[in-house]
Amino acid sequence: LEVIASVEPRIADATRAELADQRSSLKLIASENYASPAVLLTMGTWFSDKYAEGTVGHRFYAGCQNVDTVEALAAEHARELFGAEYAYVQPHSGIDANLVAFWSILAHRVEGPWLEKAAAKNVNDLTEADWEALRKELGNQRLLGMSLDAGGHLTHGFRPNISGKMFHQQQYGTNPETGLLDYDALLAKAREFKPLVLVAGYSAYPRRVNFAKMREIADEVGATLMVDMAHFAGLVAGKVFTGEENPVPYADIVTSTTHKSLRGPRGGLVLATGELAPSVDRGCPMVLGGPMSHVMAAKAVAFAEARTEDFQAYAHRVAENAQTLAEGFLKRGAKLVTGGTDNHLVLLDVTSFGLTGRQAESALLDAGVVTNRNSVPADPNGAWYTSGIRLGTPALTTRGFGAEEFDRVAELMVEVLRNTTPGTTKAGTPSQASYVLADGVADRVRAASAEM
Ligand code: PLP
Repeated sequence: LEVIASVEPRIADATRAELADQRSSLKLIASENYASPAVLLTMGTWFSDKYAEGTVGHRFYAGCQNVDTVEALAAEHARELFGAEYAYVQPHSGIDANLVAFWSILAHRVEGPWLEKAAAKNVNDLTEADWEALRKELGNQRLLGMSLDAGGHLTHGFRPNISGKMFHQQQYGTNPETGLLDYDALLAKAREFKPLVLVAGYSAYPRRVNFAKMREIADEVGATLMVDMAHFAGLVAGKVFTGEENPVPYADIVTSTTHKSLRGPRGGLVLATGELAPSVDRGCPMVLGGPMSHVMAAKAVAFAEARTEDFQAYAHRVAENAQTLAEGFLKRGAKLVTGGTDNHLVLLDVTSFGLTGRQAESALLDAGVVTNRNSVPADPNGAWYTSGIRLGTPALTTRGFGAEEFDRVAELMVEVLRNTTPGTTKAGTPSQASYVLADGVADRVRAASAEM
């Protein structure tokens, strides 16, 4: 930090402040974690300075032999860790990984057959009219993904996202009574819509998914099954999700981030069957430019960590702690979407406290509890104010929290929420954002969490 301070002291100060915040607060954001010193240090090396567009052994720049070592090792660890036929470690983020997957599927399923249809052995033989027809066909494909308010991600066909624009999209939700995925309803929707791509996976669904059933649905309608395991990759790596709950043997293509429950550097990952591998390998230049070699190196380190028994024990504790957290809320009368959890996240419905998600998030932050507001299914407060608070156990489990601490976390959060009341606007009408937290509660909760 002294070296940084000698150039731009404000960045050194902000970095120190961030460390202090992350150490003194209760970090319950489900997509965050604490990467190991080995992972963090690997990101700060000279690989950051190297350009390496292309793939291993096939680069558009000279002098990439060390990057080749790094990328090959990261891919090998990823294949071994997840039992995948092929791994692509270049995507810079989860969104990049999904874009690579979408274009790979289009290239494989539409471009390939179309080129054959056009009987064009050489792309150079295609006329402008041929390309026009291909563009039409590429732009005419369908994607079915989980809706945002049911727990899906923006990139799963949400209308304002590029995934909702490059495809004709439809979304599936959860059963309105139980909040659970309804595979029969999904099958009926898929039969009617006939998507090219069926996307499974989630950001805020607190339950496990049966990927064997997803595979059956995809097969029934001839869809490519893409699973975005960004949130639960750590639980797959740590063998908490096995059999039908492990997407890798069932999906054609699996995407992920590397920085959430997997506890690596910020980044993306694509796993694919051998059949899709050649299309995915074209991620650069199709969607990506130069890979971040320092981050690929850190991915290799994180994957090596995730292959240990220690990581498996960690992943099991993440899931056990989520159960304890959910039970801690339920026994104190709080309401949870789906009534509980069986993964790493808990979705608390704060309407039972008379609050919006925004008010709850702000009051909790005052008390040093860092969460994010989140829609619940058919959310009456919309996507900005919301009615939910999403919580995850990966970060605090890394800090060593167990059952006793997570029960205490639930107790402290309930104390904050019970002592928070909705505020009013300047005009005196009810506000969805402002709130009043009773005096002394924030200090009491901060002091209690400092002791954990
Ligand atoms: N996919 C899912 C399921 C996610 O939850 C997220 C992140 O929130 C992403 C993709 C995007 O990841 P990134 O923020 O690295 O682009």
